[in-house]
Amino acid sequence: MLEVKNLHATIAGKEILKGIDLTIRDGETHAIMGPNGSGKSTLSAVLVGNPLYEVTEGEAYFNGKNLLDMKPEDRAHEGLFLSFQYPVEIPGVSMTNFMKAAINEKRKYQGLEPMNAAEFLKLMREKRKIVELDSKLANRSVNEGFSGGEKKRNEVFQMAMLEPKLSILDETDSGLDVDAMRIVAEGVNKLQTPQTSCIVITHYDRLLEMIRPQFVHVLYKGRIVKTGGPELAKEIQEHGYDWIKEEIGEE
Ligand code: ADP
Ligand code: MG
Ligand code: MG
Repeated sequence: MLEVKNLHATIAGKEILKGIDLTIRDGETHAIMGPNGSGKSTLSAVLVGNPLYEVTEGEAYFNGKNLLDMKPEDRAHEGLFLSFQYPVEIPGVSMTNFMKAAINEKRKYQGLEPMNAAEFLKLMREKRKIVELDSKLANRSVNEGFSGGEKKRNEVFQMAMLEPKLSILDETDSGLDVDAMRIVAEGVNKLQTPQTSCIVITHYDRLLEMIRPQFVHVLYKGRIVKTGGPELAKEIQEHGYDWIKEEIGEE
């Protein structure tokens, strides 16, 4: 599904990613952990094609296609989805119109006709149920005046609507209380299929206990310095990152 090799990237001339290698197969869930400022959000931004970042070295393939050659919107149409750490508010644009535009652009890319209104509303209703999103929120402007938890739930709703092949959740847990975290995690779990994959960026093993990744990576100073199973998330929760810094010869 995703193959990243020796990826280096800079922002404002400063190198943030310093050689990332990451392989994700169909159906796998990977967690990326790491101290603040390690480059986790940078990695997700580079994968979806945020133009603020410059890739200076390395390769990335998504379903066999050269990701780095693709426009950001085409990456999305190919099935890449990023749930933002800080979702933006879009006043004046209703969720309904926002989702209709996103879905029909994707259909256009696939050579399909726009979805008819009845079919679209049925889809909205179905997906809203999965993430327990209130119909009132779905009728408001995108994220406008939403609480932190509502914004995150809304992101998972967008993910449900777009049915991505690879979802990247960047700290979807920050600002969520335990109940909201459970609803988000359950939503994410319900959307996973043997053909879809997920990258969960988080500081907390509480979310990982619910989402259950097969692989846990530690990103530190722009490199993946350690990879393990779910037990690695537990060790980090208990002991922090210092022991990993020592392992790689740093204090
Ligand atoms: P994480 O998500 O792991 O907390 P980020 O990817 O957000 O880390 O940030 C990685 C590094 O990139 C940090 O040192 C941060 O200060 C730096 N950085 C992020 N955005 C910019 C920017 N616009 N200009 C300069 N440096 C930036
Ligand atoms: Mg951060
Ligand atoms: Mg971040």
